[in-house]
Amino acid sequence: MLADFQIRAVLDNAARAAAREPSTASALLACRRVTPMPWHRDVLDAAVQRARAAGLTIPVFTVVWVAGEPDLADGAIRYDYGTRAAVIALSVFTDPHSLLRTCLHELAHLSDFSSGHTYSRADLESRAEHFVRSVMMC
Ligand SMILES: [Zn+2]
Repeated sequence: MLADFQIRAVLDNAARAAAREPSTASALLACRRVTPMPWHRDVLDAAVQRARAAGLTIPVFTVVWVAGEPDLADGAIRYDYGTRAAVIALSVFTDPHSLLRTCLHELAHLSDFSSGHTYSRADLESRAEHFVRSVMMC
């Protein structure tokens, strides 16, 4: 049983994370759009294949490749619950291993968003990281 102050701390952390996530997507989507190298697309395709093979349902999504900036995340997702439109923004300034990790993380979010379940931000992040770890170990 959690004490009130512990519950407040959990909610505060989730709220902070939720407030950060949309701004991360907005910041990344505001970066200069670029054409990826073939290996960037190959890594994304591999991530989608691995995610599907691992049982995730991956609906259609749009990818925006950007010249990410050093203080931003390598990837982010924007999902519209009304239209079910998903945009995944990915920075081209990342190494293949990190890009694969980032793609799997965002694809896990996409699967969760489109599933119809409602997860807290903390649960979404936890689920995505758990998924990445499970797939990267294979
Ligand atoms: Zn995330």
